[in-house]
Amino acid sequence: MNATRYLTAREVSALNRLGDILCPGDEVLPTFSATGAVARFDDMADYMVVSDREDLKLLLTVFSFLPAFMIRLLLVLFGSMERLPAAPGSLGRLVMFGLKGVVTTLYYGFADNDGKSGEKVRQALGWDAAIRSPVSHHDDLVNPEEVNPMNQAVQAAPVDAAAVFSRVHQAQPALRALSVRERLVYVQRLNDLVRDERESIISRIQSETGKSRTDALISEIFPLLEHFEFLLKYAEKALADETVPTPLAMMGKKSKIFYEPMGTILVISPWNYPFYQALTPITVALVTGNTVVYKPSEITPLEGLVESLLERAGVPEDWVQIVYGAGDVGSQLIDQRPDKIFFTGSVATGKKIMAQASQQLVPVELELGGKDPMLVFDDVNVERAVQGALWGTLTNSGQSCTSVERLYVQRGIYNDFRDRLVAAARQVTLGVDRDGNADMGRMTSPRQVVIVSDLVSDAKAQGATLLCGSEWDGRSDFIPPIIVEGSTHAMRINQEELFGPVVTIFPFDTEEEAIRLANDSAFGLSASVWSADKVRAERVARALVTGNVSINNVMLSEGNHSLPFGGVKDSGIGRYKGVHGLRGFCNQKSVLIDGNSKKIEANWYPYTAKKYGLFGQLTQALFSHGPMALVKFALSGMSLEGYSQKAKRSE
Ligand code: NAD
Repeated sequence: MNATRYLTAREVSALNRLGDILCPGDEVLPTFSATGAVARFDDMADYMVVSDREDLKLLLTVFSFLPAFMIRLLLVLFGSMERLPAAPGSLGRLVMFGLKGVVTTLYYGFADNDGKSGEKVRQALGWDAAIRSPVSHHDDLVNPEEVNPMNQAVQAAPVDAAAVFSRVHQAQPALRALSVRERLVYVQRLNDLVRDERESIISRIQSETGKSRTDALISEIFPLLEHFEFLLKYAEKALADETVPTPLAMMGKKSKIFYEPMGTILVISPWNYPFYQALTPITVALVTGNTVVYKPSEITPLEGLVESLLERAGVPEDWVQIVYGAGDVGSQLIDQRPDKIFFTGSVATGKKIMAQASQQLVPVELELGGKDPMLVFDDVNVERAVQGALWGTLTNSGQSCTSVERLYVQRGIYNDFRDRLVAAARQVTLGVDRDGNADMGRMTSPRQVVIVSDLVSDAKAQGATLLCGSEWDGRSDFIPPIIVEGSTHAMRINQEELFGPVVTIFPFDTEEEAIRLANDSAFGLSASVWSADKVRAERVARALVTGNVSINNVMLSEGNHSLPFGGVKDSGIGRYKGVHGLRGFCNQKSVLIDGNSKKIEANWYPYTAKKYGLFGQLTQALFSHGPMALVKFALSGMSLEGYSQKAKRSE
């Protein structure tokens, strides 16, 4: 058994023995050791934080001295510890989660050296190799199509989409029958699991996305818990039957809205916040009584993680079906005619999805890209605004739909602002850290590295200057902060979504100019306005053509889960979050309730000239104002009512 870069020969042998216990194979699948998957351990270990790797090596060394039955016994022990409360339980869960994670990722996800036995596993499972391969070695990749084969030609899908939908459709009545309060029990359990197991979840998110640890905590875990909190506090009220006013002409009747489930929601998510973007729409769907088919991005599938949390929260398997695969799989799921599609992703894909959905009139909600402007007036606290601009540009390595991509600063403070921003950007630390000490992680998708490189090169070629970040080679997935000065709106860098740690900066003179520049974009997702003059800030916020605005802060409107979130123009259609978001997953059924009297309605047949005249008088009175109008309405109403009860066509 040969050693690898990270493992000694003894550890390799222990990993194979452990693998054979956890993945023993069957008549179709080979054993773990037969796949040779262990040879690819290094590819995976490149992405592990050092201490995780060291812990794993330590366990393997221990295992290497033990006979197989002792290893089995230990696994049983750790497995049973999983159920214990507090520290022993966490340890058990962690060890089992870690060991199973490593072994199954190698077994299912990696080809062996000759590409054959690993291939056998995938073929047996109907998977495609490219989907599973980590996005690590892309030094040799030159264009987006090459680095993201998923976006190329449609592949034969392994999924039986009809069977998936049949399961969730059949399960939906049971979910529908529960009250909102009963459905919220699952949210409470998920809340507790995510809160308590956040550290291991963060590690998992980091291993697929390459985020810094703090980014994973504050942009995936924290907002998800805020979302759960919103559901737990407000969902029951938001989804209760609502009584609405009934007009005078319908006196004696009542009007209500029932917020009912739509059926099954198809959720298709992007790669940038894979954990948050999974559980947020899934739980909104469940709380509103809808079953879910969820397709994560093929780039960051977090395979098994969401299933495991849902299972442990007691959510019946048939309520949420998770389907892995690329765009072709998403398209096959749409063909099953879900009752609604909740899509988050790029404009190009959003358009395709809407076109496909339109064939069957499936309603779509599209949460698409952005090109967010930040407008800084000269009366601000400059240092605070600089720090806000820095974080708003760089959080999640700029791979956020609402990150700041265009920065407009009033001329009086422009030089000071720019110099401070550049100095602060140079202090930013890069790394996929374990302890929370790195500011910014790596880019998640190699395809995105190519896009950023392309847009920055284009701007440079047309005369723009990089105030910092010029040391980037245009290929590494650790992109330093890049601040671009001297670009124009005619350049692609200011028209297309960057989705990287890059911002263009411009001076402006007047409020009108700032508004014009900010609105000069095909996108309209969110924006921020910075000024000590709150009246001006609100005036500017109103003038911006966008879905969300933060005043004197950045990317914060989406932090409040009571506020609806969504875009205008190319940034999308629909709103999620808040009461609007919950109700958006509902069939908003309008109900008009009348009594069981003998009377017929004045507007029912037969129509006669006399009735027409009386209706005319009533219309005139009802839609006029003043006390006399009310009297006239009452008189004409009574005549009409009396006449209608005995009216015959002959009269
Ligand atoms: P993408 O459009 O490439 O893919 C998104 C999802 O759609 C993936 O799961 C993909 O497999 C699937 N898909 C692709 N083609 C499909 C098809 N024909 N039918 C069905 N599904 C298909 O987007 P991405 O690169 O993963 O994500 C980045 C984009 O997402 C950026 O534009 C970003 O701004 C946007 N985004 C928007 C929000 C928001 O709330 N507005 C949030 C996060 C990300």
